[in-house]
Amino acid sequence: MPSTLGPAPAPEKPAPLTVAGRPDTLSRRLRQIRHVALDMDGTIYSGGTLFDCTRSFLAQLTGLGIGYTFLTNNSSKSVQDYVTHLQAMGITTTAGQIYTSTNATIAFLQEAMPAIRRLFVLGTTSMRTEISAAGFSLTADSSADEPDAVVVGFDTDLNFSRLCRAAYWIKQGKPFIASHPDRICPTDVPTVWVDCGAICAALQAATGRGPDAVLGKPAPRMLYGLLQKLELRPEHLMMVGDRLYTDILMARQAGILGVLVLTGEATADAAARHSPPPDLVLPDIAALGDKLKAAHNGKLE
Ligand SMILES: [Mg+2]
Repeated sequence: MPSTLGPAPAPEKPAPLTVAGRPDTLSRRLRQIRHVALDMDGTIYSGGTLFDCTRSFLAQLTGLGIGYTFLTNNSSKSVQDYVTHLQAMGITTTAGQIYTSTNATIAFLQEAMPAIRRLFVLGTTSMRTEISAAGFSLTADSSADEPDAVVVGFDTDLNFSRLCRAAYWIKQGKPFIASHPDRICPTDVPTVWVDCGAICAALQAATGRGPDAVLGKPAPRMLYGLLQKLELRPEHLMMVGDRLYTDILMARQAGILGVLVLTGEATADAAARHSPPPDLVLPDIAALGDKLKAAHNGKLE
């Protein structure tokens, strides 16, 4: 079948900082925020260590009536895995507050490719279980079990035979969907974690075809999926993260307020040079909590 990707609602250019065509103040934009999408590593924790301000920031959001969702490209873990992971760090959360690139992939398939029901998934058991629970049939590693499309994630259980099977179906012209573009997953252990983008590069080298769609950050579809799930408009959502080329690029491409925190990868100098620039650069999420509180109290102009 043709690998049509459906109409992309993405604006071609970053949205201007205006509302209804008028010059807008930061205060006005912050007052409109009803939900915050939070990157995790570098934003609410570093490696295995939760930032001191994270719990009070989340409590502050709740106090202001602002919801929040944790966003991650890592499709090797399920939503439930992340609930457990955050719980172990002292953050009580629900499945509804986690949004992964697997969730974005499922939302994309349901919306843009509704005829697709049968998938060959190169991913972990966690990922395959989530995709199956969303109503898709998972095909086996067999040329007799034909899928409608191939989905590739961060398969930390990568198996040679299944890699070859994915290549076979891609070579046969099946739509090729990647959960996210990252070529490596950062780690502090002495190895290289070969991520979804690198697995897709191997498949591309073997078949001559790259992915037809790549979900996850920085694709704005990741945020469209979240907006759809939350039934919110772009001006109600804010993205907070520590990476310019994923978190901030995605926010700006989706027309959503993009806030860079300097607790992770990006520096203030890099932020000043980056295009598109963040809407706001802050030292950490505690400073963001202060800004939101001041805007809601009418004290920030
Ligand atoms: Mg990060």
